[in-house]
Amino acid sequence: MMNRDQRQQKRKERGMGKSALPPGRKGGRQNDYEEALNRPKHLVRTGQNTAAPRKNKIVITLPITVRSFAEELELPVTKVIAKLMQMGMPMTITASMDADTAELVAAELNLNVEIRQPQSLEEKLITAAEEMEDAPEDLKSRPPVITFLGHVDHGKTSLLDRIIGIDVCSGEKGGITQHIRAYQISKDGNKITFVDTPGHQAFTEMRARGANCTDIAVLVVAADDGVMPQTEEAISHARAAGVPIVVALNKIDIPGVNVPKVLQELASHDVLPSEWGGDVEVVKCSAMTGEGVDELLDTILTVAELHDYKANPKRAAMGICLESQLNQDQGAIAKVLVQKGTLKVGDIVVCGSAYGRVKSMTETLQTKNRVQKALPSMPVNLFGLDKAPGAGDKFYVLDDITEAREIAARKAEFEHQQDMAGTAVKHVTLEDLFSTSGQTLNIILRTDVRGSIEAIKAEIAKLENPEVQIRILQAMVGGITEADVALADASNAIIFGFNVVPDENARVLAEQKGVQIRRYDIIYKMTDDIKAAMEGMLKPEEKETELGRIVVQKRFVISHVGTIAGCRVLSGMVQRGCRVRLIRENRIIGDYAIDTLKREKDDVKEVQQGYECGIKLQNFNDIKEGDVFEAYKIEEVSRKL
Ligand code: GDP
Repeated sequence: MMNRDQRQQKRKERGMGKSALPPGRKGGRQNDYEEALNRPKHLVRTGQNTAAPRKNKIVITLPITVRSFAEELELPVTKVIAKLMQMGMPMTITASMDADTAELVAAELNLNVEIRQPQSLEEKLITAAEEMEDAPEDLKSRPPVITFLGHVDHGKTSLLDRIIGIDVCSGEKGGITQHIRAYQISKDGNKITFVDTPGHQAFTEMRARGANCTDIAVLVVAADDGVMPQTEEAISHARAAGVPIVVALNKIDIPGVNVPKVLQELASHDVLPSEWGGDVEVVKCSAMTGEGVDELLDTILTVAELHDYKANPKRAAMGICLESQLNQDQGAIAKVLVQKGTLKVGDIVVCGSAYGRVKSMTETLQTKNRVQKALPSMPVNLFGLDKAPGAGDKFYVLDDITEAREIAARKAEFEHQQDMAGTAVKHVTLEDLFSTSGQTLNIILRTDVRGSIEAIKAEIAKLENPEVQIRILQAMVGGITEADVALADASNAIIFGFNVVPDENARVLAEQKGVQIRRYDIIYKMTDDIKAAMEGMLKPEEKETELGRIVVQKRFVISHVGTIAGCRVLSGMVQRGCRVRLIRENRIIGDYAIDTLKREKDDVKEVQQGYECGIKLQNFNDIKEGDVFEAYKIEEVSRKL
């Protein structure tokens, strides 16, 4: 419930200070209700209010007492009580009003109110924690949280090892690098937190769950290898997260490395090095020799200083769980990162569907070192939760263990329901883009050749619409991958494939997450659709229905007939008369009609998943073993009026 100050503040925001109601002025709101109150009883419920309802809607959250109701509406409580009496519903000042009564009284007084049902305990406490604003004087500088991203083997693990002074890379590789590492180090008295996710997918998955824990992305690029596919992906992921990038140009010790070439490659991916006039710091370093590592840390601190990351250490702590495990002796151990407030031993914590009292905390690097308090940006191992929370679950400190238990139980129930229903967050689709107005259309683009990227980007740049902004988060050559879907999921993006298809994993994940993948083979068709979507005009007249996927196991060349593909239906089915897209190495080679579909020697209408069949395509014989046919049919969809 709001206190008096908050209510007064709210009134001010609504431009409804008491002085806004000059006493005795005809036509004012005060007169409306006074009039209403003075009307004879039989005239009260006319059901018609000719006076224009007040524009500002007053939101009332149940449960509400008669007194609070009057306060919210800025009416003397005696008037409300009198009104209730008149309406034949006598109530005391402390009685609770139900939704119908509140609505009825408000309608009688010609006031525009919206009645909200009570929030759950979880909503109430967590929304309050999330929305609690810190006084500027309470905000204190906090260490930056850094994530290393980059192509595999470019030296992320080695660099972090060098920085924290341990040797995980050579010794315990596989064991620890599978996990999220989170460490805090001190450089000349300044702290830096490193959160190392295994690959950028984990980074993005956390973001998809609303757990954005990174302030600065360090893009590790091996000088001998340059920008590789995962470097490109990492750039997109960092850009989508909206965090500054620092490039660690690693392996500078290798003789003959061509630094200008790598800088050129970075520049061509819109990562313009500062020495070339851009805004990205590139630090040449070597995890092997240690050269440049100090400079890398200094650069990180400079970027951090520029952004002035702050948090209030005085409030109740909140943050995220990076990972957790269940240990037979010690119970649940959660590696958490404090983002706001100070986490203390003894605090009551709810984290996802886990809850408990903080029994103890230890440093993440020297795990024997106990910690009594963890300040913002500090990672700690937390002991005392009743079970292991999920990676990316947010944690909150509450006052009451019963409330924590209740929230955790509700969360567990919710997660269970979601698992059962397999529900995904509703993501944007091109068709509903317009209805969700004020949108940015986030695009992830995959094409067969680099030339298409440039051509498509140029066409998209021509599309202008005041209400919709287009942001290309990633544009890359090659088939659509799981990482693309994860990025789309985290960024509410649509994936556009130009002459490429998603692989099986990407397809399954996209379905699970409700991410739209649209595929095109003509550029103007793609841009026409985007344009139409921006104008709210996209109404597909024909709809493609996917039937199934078939793999070619053997090819038979039969003279006078042509090549027959000996196939197995991997998923779905294939029908006579449908079309197939021929896919080789995740690229669409062509689109053909099925000439004949046979089981053994007989023509058949359809073949279901798991069965073998013989397929001959119309006008195409250059089939190879391992080719995949994607069967589909076109269905007419009536235009919406
Ligand atoms: P990650 O996959 O990005 O974590 O890469 P790793 O840290 O596992 O490094 C991959 C390989 O590159 C390992 O064999 C490292 O020894 C080697 N490596 C890492 N940094 C350097 C460096 O600065 N110079 C040289 N010469 N080799 C390096």
